[in-house]
Amino acid sequence: MIFFKKFQCELCQKKFSQHKDLMHHQEITHFKDSPYDCKECNENFHSMLEMRDHLKKKHSYKIDR
Ligand SMILES: [Zn+2]
Ligand SMILES: [Zn+2]
Repeated sequence: MIFFKKFQCELCQKKFSQHKDLMHHQEITHFKDSPYDCKECNENFHSMLEMRDHLKKKHSYKIDR
């Protein structure tokens, strides 16, 4: 039996045979639930605070407040 890949990601045109695979792909590839990313090393963070903490520790940024 041939599985047709009928679920296509509209963001990168990749095709999947199952809807859940497509969902999973989008989740990990396009919809990362970490909207904050470090400009220096592209690491992702869930909150502004986490990112600030990272910037301070890893890149020795001086952030006031
Ligand atoms: Zn995609
Ligand atoms: Zn960084």
